[in-house]
Amino acid sequence: MKVLVLNCGSSSLKYQLINMDTEEVLAKGIAERIGIAGSFVKHEATGKEKVVIEDTMENHKAAIKIVLDCLVHETHGAINSMTEISAVGHRVVHGGEKFAGSVIINEEVKATLEECSELAPLHNPPNLMGIYACEEILPSVPMVGVFDTAFHQTMPKSSYLYALPYELYDKYKIRRYGFHGTSHKYVAMRAADILGKPLEELKIVTCHLGNGASIAAVDRGKSIDTSMGFTPLEGLAMGTRCGDMDPAITTFLMEKEGLTSGELNNLMNKKSGVLGISGVSSDFRDIETAADEGNERAVMALEVYNKRVKKYIGAYAAEMGGLDAVVFTAGLGENSKETRKSVCEGLEFLGIKIDDNKNNVRGKETIVTTDDSNTKVLLIPTNEELMIARETKALI
Ligand code: ADP
Repeated sequence: MKVLVLNCGSSSLKYQLINMDTEEVLAKGIAERIGIAGSFVKHEATGKEKVVIEDTMENHKAAIKIVLDCLVHETHGAINSMTEISAVGHRVVHGGEKFAGSVIINEEVKATLEECSELAPLHNPPNLMGIYACEEILPSVPMVGVFDTAFHQTMPKSSYLYALPYELYDKYKIRRYGFHGTSHKYVAMRAADILGKPLEELKIVTCHLGNGASIAAVDRGKSIDTSMGFTPLEGLAMGTRCGDMDPAITTFLMEKEGLTSGELNNLMNKKSGVLGISGVSSDFRDIETAADEGNERAVMALEVYNKRVKKYIGAYAAEMGGLDAVVFTAGLGENSKETRKSVCEGLEFLGIKIDDNKNNVRGKETIVTTDDSNTKVLLIPTNEELMIARETKALI
């Protein structure tokens, strides 16, 4: 069974074709600049040369057509015919309170997703465009929606309610939803496998540290708390997002700087985080280099970032009443030994002892703590596409 996984953004579309009998990736790629001049698809079938196809892509439908052409292409394709695609798995960012798991996409699901668009105006509309486009191009192929929010629907009310007037929750569904759920679920499951223990017996904190970053408390397989909230702005300091701050700063800044709500939103989402503090970059590689060269603001950005990760690990260990494992994943979590080391420094009281030799690794499943460390720290590369394909296969 072959599953096509699609992750549609506003102007991009990432895809993977996975053979679910072996879980092998047959082809993957990305269409960029959809709806903008200069659009192209970077495509790579496993074992074949990478190709770049420059072509006009006015919308997601045009992009998906080109991707499908690539997949069945004589020289750089991966399958002989589109009929080999048994199902399409779509990454959908926001499932609101309606979806606590993946679903087969039907009319009712689409209508509910339209409603959820209000909660994720930047993300859900392009996800839906991908769904509508596939429906037209591959009308007889079943589709599944896999939600970033679904894994966190197990959070108790005490974790997801904000201390605002309760009526606002009823009226607007203002609550914490959490994101990156597919990744948190995947790495928690992998951690249990690697540790050789049932997930149902483990208390795990999963740290997804990429451009966007979030942490989850996975208590015996269930997410009971996570750092992102109503939107992906809450929680950790990120590449360009501020994460947690005193909410009174928003009205203060609007008054002092004469900012509109849109401008403030832009400041908190695009100009803050480690970029805002360091003034160097949102990319941790640049910031680490600047810090090594003695740039004090770069040093400070890393310290603020790491301290907040540490704080959440401590908070979630307290919430779960114990801690068996901490997992680091995504761009920074998988690549930066400095981040892992510095976040875990001082956590010996939680049973964590980092082994510097084992921690000197990138992008490979590894236990980076000493053998006698009571709490294990693991590096696990995330694989959201595989998780989406697995959920799709299970439902089909
Ligand atoms: P996203 O999917 O959210 O865009 P990724 O998980 O790909 O993000 O992570 C991207 C981030 O990972 C980059 O912005 C960079 O800061 C960080 N990163 C990637 N490689 C390294 C590295 N070798 N050292 C430090 N940070 C890295």
